[in-house]
Amino acid sequence: MPQRRRRLGIMGGTFDPIHHGHLVAASEVAHHFALDEVVFVPTGEPYQKRKVSPSEDRYLMTVVATASNPRFKVSRVDIDRDGPTYTIDTLRDMRAQHPDAELFFITGADAFASIVGWKDADELWQLAHFVAVTRPGHHLSISGYPPDRVSELEIPALAISSTDCRARVRAGYPVWYLVPDGVVQYISKHDLYRRLTA
Ligand code: ATP
Repeated sequence: MPQRRRRLGIMGGTFDPIHHGHLVAASEVAHHFALDEVVFVPTGEPYQKRKVSPSEDRYLMTVVATASNPRFKVSRVDIDRDGPTYTIDTLRDMRAQHPDAELFFITGADAFASIVGWKDADELWQLAHFVAVTRPGHHLSISGYPPDRVSELEIPALAISSTDCRARVRAGYPVWYLVPDGVVQYISKHDLYRRLTA
């Protein structure tokens, strides 16, 4: 009898810091698509103008946030690769590491909207199935994309963003319950976001 292929979710993000919006998105997609595992992949050197926190801090916060879920893993592929992160490179590396798995790339409505701008968009569809999840304040439309390669999933609305978390820390407001407890402690211990301008 043929074996069922492993179903692997990939959750890319800057995770500066990782928050409960990310974790709920990954958990909902994992449930809905019967994924065996979700790999969180913090981005490398950014191409946006904003200077992000050091890769190692974003990686470690992601490890702390996902540690309690046996199906959640964290990969260094993007932070260990030189230069900006392009989703196509993430997917090529994940495909090489997991040649037999079915790949599901998880993205929020805002990130999905920029999909057509990604380098080598056509190859993306060959490498993975894309799951675009709803996000408060962002319109989600997957019309015009290959229907067998892209799905839309409505998830519980959590109006949390990393930008807001950073601004709250800078202004002295709490981020308890917006991010996992261990991430609150990591931010405080390493004095992150107090001096950032964005
Ligand atoms: P920033 O505010 O710094 O831009 P962010 O909160 O958007 O950060 P990212 O690390 O850029 O977080 O997001 C990684 C992925 O998670 C993206 O695909 C994004 O759309 C998705 N995402 C982030 N927050 C949510 C949320 N609250 N609900 C659903 N999806 C989310």
